[in-house]
Amino acid sequence: MNLRKCPKCGKVLPESMFAPNTDKCRICRRDYDWQYRYGLSPEQYLELYQAQDGKCKICGKELPDGKYLCVDHNQATGEVRGLLCDQCNRGIGYFHENIEVMKKAIKYLEENK
Ligand SMILES: [Zn+2]
Ligand SMILES: [Zn+2]
Repeated sequence: MNLRKCPKCGKVLPESMFAPNTDKCRICRRDYDWQYRYGLSPEQYLELYQAQDGKCKICGKELPDGKYLCVDHNQATGEVRGLLCDQCNRGIGYFHENIEVMKKAIKYLEENK
């Protein structure tokens, strides 16, 4: 196994734990992304995570070890709304977060059970 040291956190990790196109490990890279995109520090993430009991804020799913919940933010205000699993995060994205359309989708599904 190839081991490498992350220059950011100083951890020695297997090659697979490193993100492509960077010398940082996946965790540091992720932290960097969150900070950059959402202004969210790892401590703030942990706070949200614990407040949600480690579960997706929509479907309540708990992710297996090594996976983490996505940071969902309001596109308009940039405010972090909560942590979601990948599916829910994509789901609302596919609906362009259009509440009316999502309601219609629910109605449609209920009518066609
Ligand atoms: Zn690191
Ligand atoms: Zn979910």
